[in-house]
Amino acid sequence: MYHHIKKLMYTVKVGTPDPRFGNMLLEQFGGANGELAAAMQYSIQGLNCDDPDRKDMLMDIGTEELSHLEVVGTLARMHLKPMKKDREAGEADPLIAIAGGGGVNLFNSMGDAWTADYLKITGELDVDLRSNIAAEARAKIVYERLIDFCDDPGSKDALQFLMTREITHMKAFTAALESMGKDPFSIGKIPPTPVLVDQYFNDSTGEGDEGETDARGPWNQGGNWQIVELPELKDGVENLDTSRRETATGKKQRGSSSEPKIRKSA
Ligand code: MN
Ligand code: MN
Repeated sequence: MYHHIKKLMYTVKVGTPDPRFGNMLLEQFGGANGELAAAMQYSIQGLNCDDPDRKDMLMDIGTEELSHLEVVGTLARMHLKPMKKDREAGEADPLIAIAGGGGVNLFNSMGDAWTADYLKITGELDVDLRSNIAAEARAKIVYERLIDFCDDPGSKDALQFLMTREITHMKAFTAALESMGKDPFSIGKIPPTPVLVDQYFNDSTGEGDEGETDARGPWNQGGNWQIVELPELKDGVENLDTSRRETATGKKQRGSSSEPKIRKSA
């Protein structure tokens, strides 16, 4: 069950309201990586979770995100409020001024409506935890940018609190994932195809105008990695035959000769 306590998780103070900054703050209210998305993503994942310990964590953090929604919504409202009556302030975002009366609503900073499409919920706990770690990283960097664009000390304080909590959540999700003891590349139950799984396709080739060349690194060399080149490209894209992708060992790996060739558009 949910219960509301008439107290903010972090006290919000604003010196001089800045309607344009208030608009930016909406990214963390009704945006793709905002607090409502986080609250819903973790809470709904929790409903689907059969592991009672990690379910408890998902519900704890999902609920904290609702409290963050209240903090960032209160902060945004303080910055947007002058738009209700002041024409000049209203110029910052006519939609919020005219349709919303200088209030917050579930839109992002571009005025796009919040959508459940933002949520990443797969019903596979380790997959969901990876999504959550990435979501916290995105929330952190958005808060950092908001702090960089803010002159008001009270607003900065609240944003620093919210930004810090996202790293706390990232730590908890990471520890929860690691404690599951799964091989990091073992997702689901069906194993990947041997050999193919270790092939790195060198699909961006040639020398760029800025001197870019094919890079080598731990993402394509060492361990079991095998670089796979497309010999067809020597003759140009026009003659590319996808059936002839060869591996370093010279074996044909995929496709058939009846497949259409890739052609340049006219
Ligand atoms: Mn949050
Ligand atoms: Mn978070």
